[in-house]
Amino acid sequence: MKILLIGPPGGGKGTQAKKLSSKFNIPQVSTGDMLRDHVKKMSKLGIKAKEFMDQGELVPDELILKMMKSKLSDDNCKNGYILDGFPRTLPQAKGLDSLLDNIDSNLDKVIIIKVDDDVIIDRMGGRRVHKNSGRIYHIKYNPPKNEGLDDITNEPLSIRSDDKKETVKNRLKIYHDLTKPLINFYNLKNILFEVDGQNEIEDVFSSIINKL
Ligand code: AMP
Repeated sequence: MKILLIGPPGGGKGTQAKKLSSKFNIPQVSTGDMLRDHVKKMSKLGIKAKEFMDQGELVPDELILKMMKSKLSDDNCKNGYILDGFPRTLPQAKGLDSLLDNIDSNLDKVIIIKVDDDVIIDRMGGRRVHKNSGRIYHIKYNPPKNEGLDDITNEPLSIRSDDKKETVKNRLKIYHDLTKPLINFYNLKNILFEVDGQNEIEDVFSSIINKL
């Protein structure tokens, strides 16, 4: 099964992708996580990507498509995957189509997680992450068992550098301008479904499962 989650930054894609990944035992493929890994390792791509990411800008399409081409040919992606954060622009969606065409494959379902901008701005201020695993928490809506600490490792949680209010506003604008056109693109393929992302995490998860 190949599923794509589309939604605004902080709309719950990562949280839902992790839940789907463990339910269906297929990998979560998050370009954001992959890029943050490159930044941490200070790879050539990481050094280039960091300047865009810190400003809340998108990393150029060519770099993303190159990174994804090798990722999607990994053995562990053979039985499907949950795409989280890619494609994010029309050129990326077209690039993904041709990557999939080459291996005689296609996406099964595209799920839009709908969340209003003011809810996003409220959520992003409370988001905390465990850097090594990518586990995501929210101080109010999804708090860790011990304040400020990861549930599994007990290591301290941090705030993502691009979750600052001004950066979030820029990321939202980019979502509306560049990512939303994908809705029409996938609608024309008849594989698009929408869920209300403003409910509880478990309710959003059930709505997604219902669409699959
Ligand atoms: P995310 O964790 O998905 O919110 O991604 C964090 C940041 O990584 C974004 O704000 C972008 O700077 C960059 N990024 C992630 N995925 C993509 C993508 N598909 N295209 C361009 N930039 C991306």
